[in-house]
Formats: sequence, C-alpha cells, structure tokens
Amino acid sequence: MGSPIVLSLFTDDRDLAARVFRLIQRYEDALTVNRAVSQVMAVNHAAGLHPVKVSGAVYDLIRCAKAASMVNDSAFNLAIGPLVKLWRIGFQGSRVPAREEIAERLPLTRPAEVILNDHERSVFLARAGMEIDLGAIAKGYIADRVRDFLRQQGVEQALINLGGNVLALGSPQGAWSVGVKKPFAAADGLVGVVDVANKSVVTSGIYERWFEQDGKRWHHILDPRTGYPLDNDIESVTIVSDDSLDGDVWTTLIYGFGVEKGCAVLRQREDIEAIFITKNREVILSSQRQFRFTLLDDSYRISGCTA
Ligand code: ADP
Ligand code: MG
Repeated sequence: MGSPIVLSLFTDDRDLAARVFRLIQRYEDALTVNRAVSQVMAVNHAAGLHPVKVSGAVYDLIRCAKAASMVNDSAFNLAIGPLVKLWRIGFQGSRVPAREEIAERLPLTRPAEVILNDHERSVFLARAGMEIDLGAIAKGYIADRVRDFLRQQGVEQALINLGGNVLALGSPQGAWSVGVKKPFAAADGLVGVVDVANKSVVTSGIYERWFEQDGKRWHHILDPRTGYPLDNDIESVTIVSDDSLDGDVWTTLIYGFGVEKGCAVLRQREDIEAIFITKNREVILSSQRQFRFTLLDDSYRISGCTA
C-alpha cells in the first residue's frame, strides 16, 4: 500500500495479528493498480474490449466509488487512472506533463463510462485506455474490513493505522488520541490531537506525496476537471466518521469543495466531521459532535466552520 501498517492490540496474540496481516494482503492483492496482476488490473486490461467479472467485495467497492464519482461537482473520480499514471506522483519519474498530454487523457476519465452490471457483478470500461484507480479509498475499505474481523474475533480495543487511515476500536482510558500531522514539518510534528472512541480518523494532505518542478510543489490529489493537482487553501483534511471508507471519499470531496463549500456541505451531514488545516495556519473544525480536538502548536489558530 506504499505506507507502513500498524496494528495495536492489548493481548499478545501473534496468531491474530498474523491473520489480520493476511487479510490486508488479500485485499491489497485484489485492489492494487501498482502491479501487473489484480482484479482491478484485469478490468483495466479489458478496457474497450469486454466486461470483467470481479468478486463481490471488489464489485461493491467499485460501485461505491462510481457513486461518489457521480455526485454533482465531485472531485472524486474512480476513473482517474490515466492521469495518475501520467503524473507518477509519489513514484519514480514524476514530472509535470505537457498540456496536450493532459488534454488527451481527460476524455479517458469519465466515471459514467465505467459500466456496472449488478446481475453479473461485472465491470466494463467503455473506452480503450481507461483505467480505474482505487488508491484513494482502498486503505479505508481495508481498514473497515480489519475492524469487522477484529470485532468478530471479540476484540473490543485496538488501533489500526494504514498510513493515514486510523481506525480506533473502543476507548481505552476514555478515548484514543490520534495525532494530526503538521504539514511539511518533521515526521513527528503535530498540529494537535483528536480524541475519539470507536471512530475512523482519516487524514489526507498535500504534504504526503509530492515533487517540485518549476519552483512549484505538485501533489498527488488531482482535480478531475482540469487534470492538475487540486489547488486551494487546504493543506490537509481530517475526516472523523464511523467508516474509514467514508473518511477516504470525504477527504477527496472536501479538497474539491474547499473550506467554505466544504463546511456548508458538512452541515447537512451529521455523520461526517472535518478538521481542515489551511495554508495560512488555521485549524477549522466542524461541529465536534464525534471528537474533541486539542491544539498543540500555537502558531496555528482554531476556528469553527462558520461559513
Ligand atoms: P494517500 O495515499 O496519501 O492516503 P489519498 O487517500 O488522498 O492519499 O489518495 C490519493 C490517491 O488517490 C492518489 O495517489 C491516486 O492514486 C488517487 N487519486 C488522485 N486524485 C484522485 C481523485 N481526484 N479521485 C480519486 N482518486 C484520486
Ligand atoms: Mg484516502
């Protein structure tokens, strides 16, 4: 998954830990697009040719990713693959593509052209050259499955961290404290901590994967409308929700909306909460029904979602 995986348990149960890591491995094998072979790659290889049947789990995740992509004004796009591959951000050989290269690929990223067949559980990419990329949501989906598995095994308290996707089971000593990283600072630099119980805490930031060219930083969350990295005031978004999959979808949606519209949209969604960190060192908090935030770095100012 391109990031460290940390599982914290309160019992010395190596067998259970090994089963969790096998579960993660199995889902990663099915969902990755960074290797030649996976269920998602089978769909991509058949683009413009024929539908491909996938497992129930992969189908459900693709279905959910397509729904999130079809939301009005959505910055989330499951068909963004051709652009991700062009930029190669976070991989060897990343560079700013030529305008024409981006223009050529944009028509290959239409989510409506990901054709689903519920009955057959098949996925068909209508145009040759199309590619699904579940990189923004695979970790969330897998984190949720790990949580389900641990609950099934009777585990009441645990912490799962899949590189930015944290799932906190239970509430040892009242709550879990999850750090919110300080963008572009040393690895252990924190802006603050979020206290939660039984919640997912997902952070996505423009400081995670990026490269520099022509005096500018180019990060890995692309705007499907332009083909270029999303560019606004936000340095990171943390979403607190029950499911980590929602956290993943919403971090991307919120990047696309920006602070003002993001706050407005969140007011309609009691189940999704956000912590924005902006370039001008503001920490903007939504309603705080599901978490408590403590500021640790006083070069930042806290404000509410008043927009
Ligand atoms: P991280 O891997 O740092 O947790 P995210 O969860 O924010 O990052 O997902 C970023 C990844 O999602 C990118 O590396 C790329 O594979 C994919 N991606 C980039 N832009 C979009 C987009 N607009 N919609 C959906 N997926 C995207
Ligand atoms: Mg994500």
